[in-house]
Amino acid sequence: MTDCIKLLPDHVANQIAAGEVVQRPASVVKELLENAIDAKATIIQLVVKDSGKSLIQVIDNGTGMSPTDARLSFERHATSKITTANDLFNLSTKGFRGEALASIGAVAQVELKTKRPADEVGCLIKMEGSKVIDQGVTTCSTGTSVSVKNLFFNIPARRNFLKSDAVEFRHILDEFHRVALAHEQLKFVLTHNNTELFHLPEGNLKQRIVGIFGQKINDKLVPINEDTDLVEVSGFVGKPSHAKRSRSEQFLFVNNRYIKNAYLGHAVENAFEGLLAAPLRPSYFLFLKVDPHSIDINIHPTKTEIKFEDDHSIYAILRAAVKHSLGQYQIAPVLDFDGDVDLGPSYGQMKQGAQAPEVSFDGQFNPFKATQKGSSYTPNKATNPNWEGLYIGLQSSSNSNDDHHLEQFEDRTSSQLAAFDAPEQIQSKCFQLHRKYIVKPLNKGLLFVHQNRAHQRVLYEDILHKLSDSKGHSQQLLFPLTLDLNQREQLALKELKDTLDHIGFQFEGDHDVVLTGIPTMVPESEVGSVLDQLIETANSEISGQHFSQSDLLATALSKSLSVPTGKALSQEEQIDLLDKLFACQAPNVSPDQKPTFSTWSLDDIDQSF
Ligand code: ADP
Ligand code: MG
Repeated sequence: MTDCIKLLPDHVANQIAAGEVVQRPASVVKELLENAIDAKATIIQLVVKDSGKSLIQVIDNGTGMSPTDARLSFERHATSKITTANDLFNLSTKGFRGEALASIGAVAQVELKTKRPADEVGCLIKMEGSKVIDQGVTTCSTGTSVSVKNLFFNIPARRNFLKSDAVEFRHILDEFHRVALAHEQLKFVLTHNNTELFHLPEGNLKQRIVGIFGQKINDKLVPINEDTDLVEVSGFVGKPSHAKRSRSEQFLFVNNRYIKNAYLGHAVENAFEGLLAAPLRPSYFLFLKVDPHSIDINIHPTKTEIKFEDDHSIYAILRAAVKHSLGQYQIAPVLDFDGDVDLGPSYGQMKQGAQAPEVSFDGQFNPFKATQKGSSYTPNKATNPNWEGLYIGLQSSSNSNDDHHLEQFEDRTSSQLAAFDAPEQIQSKCFQLHRKYIVKPLNKGLLFVHQNRAHQRVLYEDILHKLSDSKGHSQQLLFPLTLDLNQREQLALKELKDTLDHIGFQFEGDHDVVLTGIPTMVPESEVGSVLDQLIETANSEISGQHFSQSDLLATALSKSLSVPTGKALSQEEQIDLLDKLFACQAPNVSPDQKPTFSTWSLDDIDQSF
């Protein structure tokens, strides 16, 4: 056989390498912003058009480059930031791989203008698919401007793979937020489709957080400061009353670099134990400073993952630091919760070696099992939705009797239940187990219904029905509610506007959105949590999985209006819920496709004896 190995031409190799660095417009944003910071810029402007699909431009007032450097910057592994592998363990810059500009130049049309302070004229380079198509002098101010046009113009498959403008822009915002949060001493401006969305002057961290997430977060921030030999922790956590239904306001930085680390994130969430009920997640903006030699940031190409030498101790310190501040600022004692209020000492005070946290796990846990074990909680009053009965928006049938339900069981339940051969009369009533399940004896076994998921299913079908039926009825709010929304939230709301109008929400204004009417099915006291849930559902990655906006809306509303786990239900309410569940089209699953009930047959019971 003849030899068949060939070296790939540069532009092909670059395109392949680009796949790692440039996944979507947001990746370009991240790389360009980081280059501007590495170039010691103090003012950084980001200009985006069509969610980055047609233009991403970053303009900085940093050091600029010589014409030779400017040309070299597009070569692969061309960097001014490290010279030996050892430098990797002593990094003070964001970039170091020398791959970003080469990768971007391989998959887009790039125009670079740059000038050093002492130079009379600047230098211009135009690249397209790894080829220089123009090079020369230009007039420009000191610093660098990189415009990236028509990303993936030469890889149609990648371009088609991009998500909707709304989703791609959300990713861009995420990257912008991460960079802007870590550099409060720099000025950032973000313009999208000729509208200035953010104008963040230099300031302190708190001002930066407020600049990004809105005035409403201003008095919700609890400062964290803990200095130990191993790590310095600083930043803020949000008070429990500011908790979100997603992790969208959770930011962890190590040596000023944004990182994702589920283990350390858990440490922070764990410090809120007893203060937050289940779906709520604390907001945090935390900065860890560690010896660069004790971490390895090089394990992931996009550098958001990071390995620590001693992450057990950092876990313990982080958790204690957050607990300590929550206690110190009297967040913890004012809330009524049953647990032991052990706020833990300050690590700074202890100055002792940290102990590794005990990690407990449930060996029996099987995520694929229909009903998973889990501790139930009694939600604290501040966050517990004040559910106005199981009857929200539904006709009440609480005076129905047992026989009536059984008929419904017989008629409407799935084959799963039918196999139990429910008798004509069952004398026994149902009861609640752990304020989580409704248990009902059947003729040949037992029925377990997950109260929260079952109620979600009931509400979901009812809301979908209303949505498809006709325009929802609206009730005017006595006191119109001004919504203090951040950019991300405004975006999500805009996307849903038509559907929201349809079901009876009434909004006025574009920037300062004012809510003037709400659907009759939503109790006024619940408006806040309903909107929160809606925005979170729309914002979450999984929103793409919903069939339609109505589906998304019905899912979100059913989640926020459903009776929670931990809520005691009267006999009538339990019966009513079972009744309505089995009158549903698809009683077996919640809107999220999780099981709503399971059965235990006499055979199963017999077998355990
Ligand atoms: P890296 O940042 O990993 O070094 P890049 O491909 O992002 O690799 O950039 C290559 C080089 O180009 C950098 O090392 C830097 O010297 C130079 N460079 C890139 N962007 C800028 C900028 N905005 N201002 C000044 N120099 C820049
Ligand atoms: Mg770089």
